[in-house]
Amino acid sequence: MAEKPTSFKPVSGNVMPRFSGISTFMRLPHVSDTDGVDIGLIGVPWDGGTTNRAGARHGPRQIRDLSTMVRNVHHQSRIKPFELCNCADLGDVPVNPIDLHDTLARVEAYYRRVHEAGVVPLSAGGDHLITLPIMRAIAKDRPVGMVHFDAHTDTWDRYFGDSIYTHGTPFRRAVEEGLLDPKRTVQIGIRGALYGEGDNDWGEQQGIRVITIDEFYQMGVEAAIAEARRVVGDGPTYVSFDVDGLDPVYAPGTGTPEIGGFTTFEAQTMLRGLQGLDLVGGDVVEVAPPFDPSGNTAMVGATMMFEILCILCDTIAARRG
Ligand code: MN
Ligand code: MN
Repeated sequence: MAEKPTSFKPVSGNVMPRFSGISTFMRLPHVSDTDGVDIGLIGVPWDGGTTNRAGARHGPRQIRDLSTMVRNVHHQSRIKPFELCNCADLGDVPVNPIDLHDTLARVEAYYRRVHEAGVVPLSAGGDHLITLPIMRAIAKDRPVGMVHFDAHTDTWDRYFGDSIYTHGTPFRRAVEEGLLDPKRTVQIGIRGALYGEGDNDWGEQQGIRVITIDEFYQMGVEAAIAEARRVVGDGPTYVSFDVDGLDPVYAPGTGTPEIGGFTTFEAQTMLRGLQGLDLVGGDVVEVAPPFDPSGNTAMVGATMMFEILCILCDTIAARRG
């Protein structure tokens, strides 16, 4: 059990060099007690929903390591997340690597405790199926909207006959379960060959706004931000960032890479453009270190977590008034 921290500030790189010490998300204190925590950074080291190239189970540990690169002040928005909110590393969810259903239950139970303690979760996956049990915990009282960055819609129905829980199906299940409001959901960066022509139709029929990568480049970043804000509106909104939405030149360490994606800078700009929304949580998923020995994908994932953290802190500080 970690000791109660004396503050929720990251360890300064001027006190302990950034290459030293035990890795936690953004050098924050590791706590198991959520008392006083506004935002909990949580790892979900699990890839049992992966249909092809597994490896995202190793994401949280390497993201923690590379997140030691993060500093305290956002250079563009000037948001100081660690001054606005108490942030802490809540550790990893104790998943079961050989049992999908047990893991879904464990993740949901973990996030239910976090949610009931009033802590807003920012998670590192893990494959994209982890977002379903997170939503089961935080959206059980009312559906949430979502800004979803991804090459894939993840609204497919099933794989291998009756497997309805995979990293390609979380948002189909979330809509069916009333956790995700499809009319307040926008997906950005969608591309890649399909199994069948109508594979992505279901989501649009439910009212999800799908912005393919082709449309994204026609409309431009600012218009994509405006469209995302229009779709999610004023209601509670979750941000889910699958690193395969990025072009694989920026994030090769992922299970289902698709060429022709957006850049890291475009992604950062879009995330910054979500400032002021009623944000209720976020995640960065599908970082699979075995496919990127350089570690760059984990550094990208850690930096996207920092972008999301900044806008989350801004929302929470504004809510507090
Ligand atoms: Mn995904
Ligand atoms: Mn994807």
